[in-house]
Amino acid sequence: MNDSYKHKGQRKKLVEGLRKKGITHEGTLEAMEKVPRHYFMESGFEQFAYKDQAFPISKGQTISQPYTVAYQTQLLDPHKHEKILEIGTGSGYQTAILLEMGAKVYSVERYRDLYLRAKSLLNEMGYQPYLFYGDGYKGQPIYAPYDKILVTAGASEIPDELIDQLKEGGLLVIPVGDSMGQQMMVIRKTSEGTLEKNSRGSFIFVPLIPGKDSNQQNDAS
Ligand code: SAH
Repeated sequence: MNDSYKHKGQRKKLVEGLRKKGITHEGTLEAMEKVPRHYFMESGFEQFAYKDQAFPISKGQTISQPYTVAYQTQLLDPHKHEKILEIGTGSGYQTAILLEMGAKVYSVERYRDLYLRAKSLLNEMGYQPYLFYGDGYKGQPIYAPYDKILVTAGASEIPDELIDQLKEGGLLVIPVGDSMGQQMMVIRKTSEGTLEKNSRGSFIFVPLIPGKDSNQQNDAS
């Protein structure tokens, strides 16, 4: 792992670009200036790490566009020591941003290969996330309830399990729609247990797929 002055300069520029695109949450911008995105890229793609674009990672998945990561993080408004459940670890980049902001992060990934890679990288970087290989549709009930839940894949509907695992007063950020596009939904569970839903713009994510992969033979890619 090598984080050079060139990388740091490119990150500064990326963050300036995110500000211009309307990201105002200082904690988010600070974390994104600190975390080396190039560590999370598939080999051969490192030189593109500071372009504001999504890129392929293995298993046909993507590392989300920096703007999307910033936008979701800004909506989630993470605070130190908050318990946050993330569904869709993928490369682990969004996980690192939440950890950098001081949250206690629980993250679930349905591909064993991606789970293993994110686990070794985040540990090597000195972070201590709680990572799980499993079906995020079911959340992670053992550690519930969570202050906040972030879903980084497009869901066809809001899973009841995630609502159940949210604290009263807690926040769920989840893209909801079909393969053509999703609405970024921000859902607050009130102290009476009712839900306040707001729609915050259109995005396109890879789909949230029920179940975890069980095809272990293909894990070596
Ligand atoms: N935040 C990640 C986004 C990765 S894309 C990043 O920037 O790298 C979304 C991820 O959600 C993919 O890795 C995909 O495998 C995962 N995913 C899809 N359905 C899932 C499910 N039911 N449970 C857990 N993870 C899921």
